[in-house]
Amino acid sequence: MQIEEANQKIAALESEIQKIEKVQKTAGQTEAETAKQQTETETKIETETETETQTETERVQIETEQQTETETETEQKQENGFTVAIDPGHQGSWVDMSAQEPSAPGSTVMKAKATTGTAGSFTQIPEYELNLDISLALQTELENRGYRVVMTRTDNDTAISNAERAVKAYEEGGDIYVRIHANGSEDSSVSGALGMTPSYDNAYVGHLAEESYRLTDCILSAYCQETGFGDLGIQYHDDMTGINWSQIPVTILEMGFMTNEHDDTAMADEAMRQKMVMGIANGVDQYFGR
Ligand SMILES: [Zn+2]
Repeated sequence: MQIEEANQKIAALESEIQKIEKVQKTAGQTEAETAKQQTETETKIETETETETQTETERVQIETEQQTETETETEQKQENGFTVAIDPGHQGSWVDMSAQEPSAPGSTVMKAKATTGTAGSFTQIPEYELNLDISLALQTELENRGYRVVMTRTDNDTAISNAERAVKAYEEGGDIYVRIHANGSEDSSVSGALGMTPSYDNAYVGHLAEESYRLTDCILSAYCQETGFGDLGIQYHDDMTGINWSQIPVTILEMGFMTNEHDDTAMADEAMRQKMVMGIANGVDQYFGR
């Protein structure tokens, strides 16, 4: 009886062991499966991450391409095919320009290579400085509007004569030559802007008279409209080196009188300077029918 009981117990234990082994086996399988699944999941995640990275890279590439396209388009839109040569009148008072040069191609009339210009009676701002500041701002504005711009000078130290400026303007591809100046008078009550242009009788640039007048008119009118400065009209000048050496329509804008309190202080004001620049640029647009 004892043996039988023992055998039964052994059988029962063996059965239990088998069950345990089976459970262990299943557990093992599950573990392996879990491990497999984990690996798969990880791989999937990695793949997804890679895909995301790829997608991100592609997106950035596409954006960059689109940006480049947009920039190219904008550039193409911006370039309008016209070149404006700007001459900021005069140069620093320390630059010696007293040497002489012919006042026109082949002329025996000699004139100083350039003069120093006037200065603000109230602001003390030298004309060459005002001319340069307005011209540099005008360059930016015109470039923003799609023009290519040629500058005769971009600082106050450059020693370049009036004839050399005019030659540079057309040699570097200028379609028009815009000379920026400010006026001075012994009479401090005189104020307003005026334009200077060659006459039809000019021996050197008479053939440019009509287009120069139209250019002068466009710029002076738009300038006065934008700034509210008085319009003193257009003067003919055939004795100016910087006009006579030109081969493209040429104009001088005398922006205002630095010897007049209103004009001098107004031209020193940043908000007014912005209007001055916009006015000149509007005149250039108008000249080219834009
Ligand atoms: Zn001047």
